[in-house]
Amino acid sequence: MNKEGHVLNGALLALGLGVILVVDPTMGPLVEETPSALALAAATKVAELSLPVVLGALFPDVDTAFGKHRKTLHNLPVLAIFLVFPYVFGNLQYVWVGVATHYVLDMVGSRRGIALFYPFSSKEYDLPTGVTTSSKWANPVTFVVTAFELAVLAVVHYYVFALDTSFAEAAALVGAF
Ligand SMILES: [Zn+2]
Repeated sequence: MNKEGHVLNGALLALGLGVILVVDPTMGPLVEETPSALALAAATKVAELSLPVVLGALFPDVDTAFGKHRKTLHNLPVLAIFLVFPYVFGNLQYVWVGVATHYVLDMVGSRRGIALFYPFSSKEYDLPTGVTTSSKWANPVTFVVTAFELAVLAVVHYYVFALDTSFAEAAALVGAF
């Protein structure tokens, strides 16, 4: 996928995820927050997510300039660093969301795969879907992939595991501390 696709995907994902995190339809009738307060809270969350997610979505393709493209910065160890970094340094929250969605879009939306386990293995993993990055279908494919990602995130957030659970809360939940 090209840069336009990754920016579009990151921006739309931040928009949708911001709303998902603030507006919870499983909570029943909202008694405490007025619609305008809720809209303001959602807009604030979208703004908070927007830059980190879009920057994260652009980051992996830095390996077009150094290292090996679709390998050096397109793997799970790199994603793990972005996941752990905020807990260690209190910095770069939500950038991992952009990095993760970049991987998904490359695997689902384009012809070539990515080396998920690099530097341990150079094998590139791909799904039998996708169009060439210059195709006129590139943007429609990006929309479909983003909608699918948001649907999965919403189901997980509402019914499985709150995505904004803090590290301390998660640790307490599993009885680690
Ligand atoms: Zn890429």
